Amino acid sequence: MTAYEEFQGYFAELNDLCCVINLLTWDARTQMPPGGAAARGRQVATVTRLANERFVSDTTGRLLDAAEAEVSGEGPDSYRARSVAQAREAFTLLRRVPTELMSGIAELKMVAQQAWQEARAANDFGRFAPDLSRMVELNRRLAEAIGYQEHPYDALLQRYEPGMTAARLRGLFATLREGIAPLLARAAPGSEAVRADFLDRDYPEEQQRAFALEIAQAFGYDLNRGRLDRSAHPFEISFTRDDVRITTRYNRRYAPAALFGLFHETGHALYEQGVDPALARGPLTTDLLDLYAVGGTSYGTHESQSRLWENMVGRSRPFWQLHFAALQRHFPEQLTGVDAEAFYRAANRVRRSPIRVEADEVTYNLHIMLRVEIEMALLEGSLAVADLPAAWNAGVREYLEIDPPDDSRGVLQDIHWSTGLIGSFPTYTVGNVMAAQFFAAARRATPGLDTALARGDYAPLRGWLTENVYRHGRAYSPDELLNRATGASLDAGPYLAYLRGKYDDLFPPQA
Ligand code: ZN
Repeated sequence: MTAYEEFQGYFAELNDLCCVINLLTWDARTQMPPGGAAARGRQVATVTRLANERFVSDTTGRLLDAAEAEVSGEGPDSYRARSVAQAREAFTLLRRVPTELMSGIAELKMVAQQAWQEARAANDFGRFAPDLSRMVELNRRLAEAIGYQEHPYDALLQRYEPGMTAARLRGLFATLREGIAPLLARAAPGSEAVRADFLDRDYPEEQQRAFALEIAQAFGYDLNRGRLDRSAHPFEISFTRDDVRITTRYNRRYAPAALFGLFHETGHALYEQGVDPALARGPLTTDLLDLYAVGGTSYGTHESQSRLWENMVGRSRPFWQLHFAALQRHFPEQLTGVDAEAFYRAANRVRRSPIRVEADEVTYNLHIMLRVEIEMALLEGSLAVADLPAAWNAGVREYLEIDPPDDSRGVLQDIHWSTGLIGSFPTYTVGNVMAAQFFAAARRATPGLDTALARGDYAPLRGWLTENVYRHGRAYSPDELLNRATGASLDAGPYLAYLRGKYDDLFPPQA
């Protein structure tokens, strides 16, 4: 056995452990009886500890030394060289972080999530504040341990979006905000006149599922290597590319929630199912910093695929011109007297809502900007947790020109901070921006792409994405991947052009 093969075998088993954690997690969120929660928590903790011990062990260090010597002559595009380099980078970084700090965050997550749930239910921020303060403090220590040049936020961003920094985000957000403001000013009042009463009718779950699954398969989701279940919060999770599962939740009174939610998770699933089989069970299908089995290269890149299929395909006019008849066959009474154009317009209303997960394409990024500003301020220490609700409400007023009705629907609405995910919010906006760059590049490279999409042939688009994004797994950083696939680094231009094209048509500027 060569040194590289030994290295590969060792990391294959690490990936197996991560897939086991994913399977335990999937089961907990879709099948497990409530009484199983405590035992399951211990099982996940045990397997996580085993995976972590394996990764930061001296054995890993030895295998890395030997494998590095073997691949040292290989070019920069060699998957072998990239596997070893990425494993080395994560190994070095994690060895810098004290184990008691990681276990401290893991323990705090358990109690903080509970406190957050209670605080949100009681509309009482004070119940969550002590745990949140502690979470911010531990993340500050984590940032110091990881290391950074300019801003502690830069260190945390590396876990989710390698290469991203606070400074780059500030520039990106300023450009986006300037481009979005005039669209919002027209689309929000314009949307009040858009008919949408038919969305609020009784839509039985079985038909919602049937229609959404038809579309998921049309997009290319392979049910021989996937399955759909129901869960409280929709998600996608994989145990290698050959078993990629998605979930959704159904709202009988509001069908779009499940439909667009399922298009979204399908986009994530296509990414995972499209990874090169040669990369399975290896460092390029494992997030080694989080010890999470995933083929997508970053949170933002993954989100670019969910949003591309959900919004740029699934919320487009050609999509509904083609598929509305099928929707109507599933719901003939609910959609009597409604046509494709009316449904398209209803699905693209723009509203100043205080709730992020209800946000449309125009307001969504404003919700993210507010959260990121707050995370940076908390981490710097320029904002105290006690002052957070006031800062939140002021931010919502500034960005959306509305007042949150209460803290439950304000500062307490997201689960992220209670689970320690500080620094992950920007990846949603990064995903939107990347999605438009990929889509524009696919159009340039694929003559007839729009004609194919209009007749429901998704193979050319999926083919371009597989070739340029999916198959590479985690081999390239987000910036490398973007440059290789689109010829440019992260750039808000194509995304703003996409938004203008869509919303100037729906809500034309006055001449
Ligand atoms: Zn997503």
